[in-house]
Amino acid sequence: MRLRYAVLGLSLSMAVTSASAANDAARRLAQDAIIVDTHIDAPGELLSHWDDLGVAAPKKEFDYPRAREGGLDVAFMSIYTSPEEDAAGTAWQTANTQLDAVEAMVARHPDKFAILRSPGDVEKLRKGGRVLLTPGMENGAPIGDDLSRLADFHARGVRYVTLAHSENNRIADSSYAMKKKWGGLSPFGEQVVAEMNRLGIMVDVSHISDDAIRDVLRVTDVPVIASHSGMRHFTPGFERNISDELALAVAKEGGVVQLVFGTGFVSAKAAADMQAYFAASAAFDEENEKLAAAGKPVKSKDAFEKQWKDEHPVPVVHIDAVLDQIDHAVKLLGADHVGIGSDFDGVSGNLPVELRSVADYPNLVEGLQKRGYSDADIRKILGGNLLRVWGEVEKAAKG
Ligand SMILES: [Zn+2]
Repeated sequence: MRLRYAVLGLSLSMAVTSASAANDAARRLAQDAIIVDTHIDAPGELLSHWDDLGVAAPKKEFDYPRAREGGLDVAFMSIYTSPEEDAAGTAWQTANTQLDAVEAMVARHPDKFAILRSPGDVEKLRKGGRVLLTPGMENGAPIGDDLSRLADFHARGVRYVTLAHSENNRIADSSYAMKKKWGGLSPFGEQVVAEMNRLGIMVDVSHISDDAIRDVLRVTDVPVIASHSGMRHFTPGFERNISDELALAVAKEGGVVQLVFGTGFVSAKAAADMQAYFAASAAFDEENEKLAAAGKPVKSKDAFEKQWKDEHPVPVVHIDAVLDQIDHAVKLLGADHVGIGSDFDGVSGNLPVELRSVADYPNLVEGLQKRGYSDADIRKILGGNLLRVWGEVEKAAKG
């Protein structure tokens, strides 16, 4: 929980650690288990609002002290680039700069962080309390139309690529796009998936369209992951969250669905608001195009955005929303195909009250224990399943 105080025009923020609420058994298991979180947006945050994440950084949701407190072992660092950067031709530049920022964290604090390139190195590297960082690329835009860049990014430690983000790109259609471009994967996207298989980079189906997920499962030779998705069961019609049918298809091929914590994905109201926003925003743009074509002044998009936000406050949600997602996924897929990908530092703080930062995994553990999960199943969900899939992808690599 984060409280803000305005004192004499200065804004001081104080981190109040809600993890302290978790009981000792949950805290012990969180410390002992290997926790793998497949989606933390720290690198993008470092580029826009730099902090030293090796010491307390209370404005962020990921820093070393809280990662240790929460028992986090492997943090996938999201190397995120936007469709706008893709269009401007700057995605490759941004991705490499974010990778530099991750490497700088390790160079600054080699006793606290290490880059994890292989699941087989977890035990060795986490000794002494290191938190392990693995880059995961969110949006394949930095690849451009050059397949050889995948090998370059693999060499820099990237171990998954989310094929597209919020718009269709060269590789795949986006779940958010109102109009799809390819009807799934593009022909280039099929080559990208095959090359990722060859190199040992996990294919991430979060963010892409349903047809693109089907195409990925047709093309890939190895299990895939959804790095940070909710279950669509709770947010009907919201394509960004994975359907039961496709989650089953991912699990059937040995893959894992990493459940996201962000309010926008676990709250039916927030997800419905987001879908309504896409439609309203598209209608607004169309209206402005008509005005421009008629030589009339266009309306302010900023004012539209502000009004929309004012009229659609993000609802308050609790940890039960995430536990319900896990319950549904485990009943549907079995405990071997479910994991976690929080989206910390990527959702503007719109998170369940009890899951505010990397200090809070013990709250999740306690919730699962209270719902009757065995410690063995909790360990699988916290990280065992993801490490299994990563190991299979690595083993099948021919690069
Ligand atoms: Zn995302």
